[in-house]
Amino acid sequence: MSFVFRGAADIDVAAPGARTVTVTEPHSAPCRRCLRDANVGDRVVLVSYDPFDIDSPYRSASPVFVHADPCPPYVDTAVPEQQRRRLLSVRGFDEHAMMRDSDVVDGEALEPLLDKLFADEQTSYVHVHNARPGCFAVRVTRDSG
Ligand SMILES: [Zn+2]
Repeated sequence: MSFVFRGAADIDVAAPGARTVTVTEPHSAPCRRCLRDANVGDRVVLVSYDPFDIDSPYRSASPVFVHADPCPPYVDTAVPEQQRRRLLSVRGFDEHAMMRDSDVVDGEALEPLLDKLFADEQTSYVHVHNARPGCFAVRVTRDSG
């Protein structure tokens, strides 16, 4: 099975509480739009972001980094390197934004877990979070070709 990984194109860098910071450590600020880790010296915005687009008991905002300057939203079937290097909390949802299944997995083992979650025909999409800090990471759907 193949999947489509989408960076969040709708992050509001002017949302209340947003903070602009300059990256000082490699791989410390994963941008959730282009799905690349920001480079040392890059300006990024740390802001609260809710990835759901419909109401759900599972709605919640979490902190995300996004490049302060425009960057292209990631849309690709390849697992972003950003996910490979992290411990991930992975949650499958149906079309009504109700959770179907969830698990925690090392990023290197993300694809087998996606195969399992999407084997459930009711699963419409998957939200991936960084397991330790809880930040939303990426939305995944089936690749319909
Ligand atoms: Zn970016």
